[in-house]
Amino acid sequence: MKEFNYVIIGGGCAGLSLAYELEINGKLKNKTLAIIETREEYKRDKTWSFWRVFDHNFDDCVIKSWNSFTINTSESFHELNNKKFPYQSIDSGKFYKKINSKLSMNLNISFFKNLNEINSNNSIIFNSVFNGDLDKSALWQHFQGIEIETPKNIFDEEIVNLMDFNCDQKNDVHFFYTLPFSKNKALVETTWLSDLEEHSLMDYDLQLENYIKNNLGIKNYKINFTEKGAIPLFYPIIKNENKIINIGSAGGMTRLSTGYTFLNIQEHCKYIVKNIDKIDEVKLFSLGKKYQFLDKVFLRVLKKNPEKMPEIFFNMFKASSNTIIKFLSNKSNLIEDINIISKMPKLIFLKALFN
Ligand SMILES: Cc1cc2nc3c(=O)[nH]c(=O)nc-3n(C[C@H](O)[C@H](O)[C@H](O)COP(=O)(O)OP(=O)(O)OC[C@H]3O[C@@H](n4cnc5c(N)ncnc54)[C@H](O)[C@@H]3O)c2cc1C
Repeated sequence: MKEFNYVIIGGGCAGLSLAYELEINGKLKNKTLAIIETREEYKRDKTWSFWRVFDHNFDDCVIKSWNSFTINTSESFHELNNKKFPYQSIDSGKFYKKINSKLSMNLNISFFKNLNEINSNNSIIFNSVFNGDLDKSALWQHFQGIEIETPKNIFDEEIVNLMDFNCDQKNDVHFFYTLPFSKNKALVETTWLSDLEEHSLMDYDLQLENYIKNNLGIKNYKINFTEKGAIPLFYPIIKNENKIINIGSAGGMTRLSTGYTFLNIQEHCKYIVKNIDKIDEVKLFSLGKKYQFLDKVFLRVLKKNPEKMPEIFFNMFKASSNTIIKFLSNKSNLIEDINIISKMPKLIFLKALFN
């Protein structure tokens, strides 16, 4: 069986981002790479959104960038503006196409369906696949989004609605998210923060239908695209075998309080490629102990007090737009952290801290 210098298990966001980063930095000129991926075909399956707090390789896959975003509860509404760090959405279909056409030009890169098809005994392995079942009783962010198109111009295409809490919370945390790609096209998403055992929360089609009709006031539309997902808001225990480096969500790149992962994956890939020649000597890349600790306390509060979360999120967004964006993108300094913490209800957080 053929041997490879590098093996990437899972050719999704992280696997392909890493392969692309290796390729464009000339690291695959004299080295071979096998990508193990089970999917039959690549097509648009996700919309990755994030604040662009640093440059990335995929500007040409961006559907739209915005400088304004809002958050609202049933009583209050708040708008933030920021020109320095736009909020961007990436079309995964374009992303897969761009990367795969680049990789196909290098004969040192091969795709396989199963790890058993190659000899990986002497390879450096990067893994983006969770092994085993994940705990359904833990906290997850689960959601469904639809891209809708209306015959008339309806949306304000300049403003993203990040969180609309004006909806039934059912003793969990629930909000809608609207990304207007144009005046007549938007991705509308219903998002829950809860365990995955309560199936009554998963009638997403009905939730979206009611929200679009009753909250957005839209009666006539067609659905262009549907995406669905569940992101674990905990770090699954993954076997950390010798010579295996976990990447992507499996590598702890998800920010647990928000589910944001895409830009963290890009930063991780840049770190790996920079250190590829001494990868078994450098320390493992992580989002940082500070955010791991703060998110842990935040999620404890969320689990104990779901009914308070709309107000807690709303107050958090009263910080300046720079502060909130940097905090949510793991780029905040101590003063910015204190600013965010000062917006939180003290007693509840202190209880969670010492619990
Ligand atoms: C619908 C959806 C929307 C999201 N939106 C955002 C967002 O807006 N912003 C953000 O920052 N994050 C978002 N995320 C979270 C995160 O960015 C994505 O989940 C991202 O795809 C994670 O990348 P990954 O490489 O870890 O996993 P994936 O992209 O899921 O890649 C894993 C790959 O492994 C393959 N695979 C699975 N099993 C095997 C196996 N046994 N052998 C080989 N291959 C296998 C899969 O087919 C897949 O291609 C979203 C997640 C989902 C599900």
